[in-house]
Amino acid sequence: MAETSSTPADIGVIGGSGFYAFLDDVTEITVETPYGSPSDSLFLGDIAGRRVAFLPRHGRKHHLPPHRINYRANLWALRAVGARQVFGPCAVGGLRPEYGPGTLLVPDQLVDRTKGRTQTYFDGEPLPDGRVPNVVHTTFADPYCPVGRQAAVTAARGRGWEPVDGGTMCVVEGPRFSTRAESRWHAAQGWSVVGMTGHPEAVLARELELCYTSLTLVTDLDAGVETGEGVSHGEVLKVFGENVGRLREVLFDAVSSLPDNADRDCLCAHGHDGWDLGIELP
Ligand SMILES: [Zn+2]
Repeated sequence: MAETSSTPADIGVIGGSGFYAFLDDVTEITVETPYGSPSDSLFLGDIAGRRVAFLPRHGRKHHLPPHRINYRANLWALRAVGARQVFGPCAVGGLRPEYGPGTLLVPDQLVDRTKGRTQTYFDGEPLPDGRVPNVVHTTFADPYCPVGRQAAVTAARGRGWEPVDGGTMCVVEGPRFSTRAESRWHAAQGWSVVGMTGHPEAVLARELELCYTSLTLVTDLDAGVETGEGVSHGEVLKVFGENVGRLREVLFDAVSSLPDNADRDCLCAHGHDGWDLGIELP
């Protein structure tokens, strides 16, 4: 396949501005999709010879709350510029006392507690150009890419930041934080962390046959676990700011260790084998 040499990017990273702002040579491009505009421009940069497209999930001014992010446009845009492997770092609350602020957890499962977010491309609705996606039921038993997860875990260890390897991310609708009762219920289910953006990002990536890996940074203990005043946005921003530097280092090491797109052999690349999608993926 020529896709690794003829496209603007190989790898996508959906995160905050801290992940691209320091790169010397960034090219900003705008991408439109059949689903509308992504959260912002894509910022193309180079990491150890890999061409990476960065997308600020909430927009560069952080103006989009989790429930208003156009997840379909975001993932579609990344695929359209050539990305086939995607990292989606995000801030989360810890649901266990031992997962305090500064914990890096690379989940292997998720639970969707969002409401009213469109989470499929294959809804039988015509696209603006008249093409009609078929109804498709995507396998999602293991929502994250095993290769990307391993790259993330290895990169963190290499930087001396021992990660939690595996666990369940519960994704809530937000934008409010959980009540103590909700949080205690989430913890009682055995779930590990709680966030607001990890879904439908993960399933839309799978529908587009993208490898998707989530890296979660715990910024606070969730309301059912902590004993103070509850989660505050200021606390989240403070801990995120303290850790964004090393999270960026881990991400960049992980990016540089990914296989070539043409060599992907994981379940993500074969999710639709045998299905007639009705449309061509970009
Ligand atoms: Zn994969």
